[in-house]
Amino acid sequence: MGFKPISIDKYVKLHLKNNPSEKENDLRKNLDVALKAYQNGERCNCGNDIWVIGSAAVGNSCFTCITGEGHPTEDYEIDTAVKKRDSIKGRRHIDDMDRTKIAGIFDDDGYEINMDLIKKPSLCLTCIKDGDPAEEILCMLTRNDQKDEKVFQCYAYKKSS
Ligand SMILES: [Zn+2]
Repeated sequence: MGFKPISIDKYVKLHLKNNPSEKENDLRKNLDVALKAYQNGERCNCGNDIWVIGSAAVGNSCFTCITGEGHPTEDYEIDTAVKKRDSIKGRRHIDDMDRTKIAGIFDDDGYEINMDLIKKPSLCLTCIKDGDPAEEILCMLTRNDQKDEKVFQCYAYKKSS
């Protein structure tokens, strides 16, 4: 699962073999532009990292927005972009992770949830469980489930004295 890393040179060769009418110079230029955009942290309209190889062809977008598929399986990505992607803390897919090292929480689609981005409702501040490491994950899941709700409800809430 995940992207198959490939060097620019190898990809250019492969691409030109499959698309003999395209010019190598143009392809390299487009890949270069997309890779630079990626390294500068440019994102797709939807907020995901851009897919360099796809973006070189159609403009800066992520894999899902370009292909309509949830996440890559047998698709190539330029190796330098894959390496950086691995080190990014954020939307990692559970299928792409080392099973022995999985920690944290994931949404229903299998993407890692960045716990720093989950807002803490004011209700939690008066709860006896606030700051209790044993409750942290459950609290995070409850908050994440309700992140789009207007009123936060928690059945585990206990007022601190
Ligand atoms: Zn996107």
